[in-house]
Amino acid sequence: MQSIRETLCLLVAEGYLNQHLKEFEELLFPPLYLCTSCGRLANEEELLCLPRKTEYPRSLSTVKEDGR
Ligand SMILES: [Zn+2]
Repeated sequence: MQSIRETLCLLVAEGYLNQHLKEFEELLFPPLYLCTSCGRLANEEELLCLPRKTEYPRSLSTVKEDGR
């Protein structure tokens, strides 16, 4: 399939990060996925080589613990 976008992992390897820092940052936020291969964060699953949904959004909301 040729429609697959390059992963952030590949973009960094190609030097994209150094040349397009701002564009790169836009791919990271909000960080919803974590690459379990290289530890990168991205807002889209397809941008990572081994994506896993992060717990990040959940940790932002206030968790109410029930008092006894
Ligand atoms: Zn990766």
